[in-house]
Amino acid sequence: MKYYSLNNKQHEVSFQEAVVNGLAPDKGLYFPKELQPLSNSFFDTIGKLSNEEIAFQVIEQFVGEEIPKEELKKIISETLSFNFPLVQVEENIYSLELYHGPTMAFKDVGARFMSRCLGYFNKDKNQKNIVLVATSGDTGGAVASGFLNVKDVEVIILYPSGKVSDIQEKQLTTLGKNITALEVDGVFDYCQDMVKKAFLDQELQIKNLTSANSINIARWLPQMFYFFFAYKELKKLKNPLVVSCPSGNFGNICAGILAKKLGLPIQHFVATTNANDTVPRFLEDGKYNPKASIATISNAMDVGNPSNFVRIQEMYNNDLTEFKKDFSSYSYSDEETKRCMKKIYKKFKYVAEPHGAVGYLGLKKELNNSTDRVGFFLETAHPIKFHNIVESTLGISLEIPNQIKEIMTKEKSSIKISNYEELKNVILTK
Ligand SMILES: *Cc1c(COP(=O)(O)O)cnc(C)c1O
Repeated sequence: MKYYSLNNKQHEVSFQEAVVNGLAPDKGLYFPKELQPLSNSFFDTIGKLSNEEIAFQVIEQFVGEEIPKEELKKIISETLSFNFPLVQVEENIYSLELYHGPTMAFKDVGARFMSRCLGYFNKDKNQKNIVLVATSGDTGGAVASGFLNVKDVEVIILYPSGKVSDIQEKQLTTLGKNITALEVDGVFDYCQDMVKKAFLDQELQIKNLTSANSINIARWLPQMFYFFFAYKELKKLKNPLVVSCPSGNFGNICAGILAKKLGLPIQHFVATTNANDTVPRFLEDGKYNPKASIATISNAMDVGNPSNFVRIQEMYNNDLTEFKKDFSSYSYSDEETKRCMKKIYKKFKYVAEPHGAVGYLGLKKELNNSTDRVGFFLETAHPIKFHNIVESTLGISLEIPNQIKEIMTKEKSSIKISNYEELKNVILTK
């Protein structure tokens, strides 16, 4: 499979180059050149396939010959070493729990897949890559865990000081080895801007920088897998399906839409946001007008200018009318989110953390009491990762899972930085 830059369709690269580069030299995101829909027989027999088999068929065309089939199967099986339960919350609403991986966030899927692809490409080479990533919360932990001990890869993670939860901070600052955490005096967008600047910095070219945000295709593409897993479960109901993704950088929902392009029968997508409502506003007035990010209780979605939105627009040829047929987007305040967490706990005994609750709200609105459609929302993190807000809102105390207990006893180690020059100095020492 070839990938082109969204800034210049003439610029084509291989899967390997797209993974290793992260972003095209012209700053464009990479996009797959041609999509081959999956066969009818795949969808007819999906109920009999294992998660690994589904994932292999979904991703195969995107990797092509660049990773041998057996090796790709191994990468997939290491990526999917945990469960993706679809839990019924009410009559026609399900929660797709994506948080049963090592760092208890959906980003484990993309991070594990990408790290193993990069490890494979580095296998016989005498070169080192530096993975540079900005996190608003969960990316950092998943990337740190996914890339720990991967050969010839150094990982540098930027996070906004004081704006991630205690568990998230521990997950990205306690592993050591090839993982370096930079605590930035500023908001997430500032971290992301510095990362983008580093990728364009000529003096850093020799460092082989790559990204591990969902702008990297090896993080983005495997996120398609779980939309297929959910379909496998819900297919028997025969109802039209609606999915709501609590959205920040719009990587998840963009993967869902790509899955639809491959033939996955999802009728409608809802991108639900917190107060960072750039996309909901765009759907209302047709003007894409990004703003600085606003801090909320669903902080992994505090993104003012979602990177993957350009990919979604590409899939609809920038045709807003066509796009709106498949896609809605709604925004919710922290107050509405908390009220919703209380409601689903009281009514259905389901504990949702703030991101999942935002997803539920958008789904509920879209379904609008219709009886024929069935929906699921992505529950993107384990409630323990946002225990302060979950416990105080619901008046309960959560049991701490073992993976988290272990990490909380470890010592935090980070380097404080406040500007680009300081970031550059750290990169140059690696
Ligand atoms: C990253 C993240 C999101 C947002 O996902 P995108 O793919 O960036 O839209 C939502 N919830 C949680 C818990 C996250 O970590």
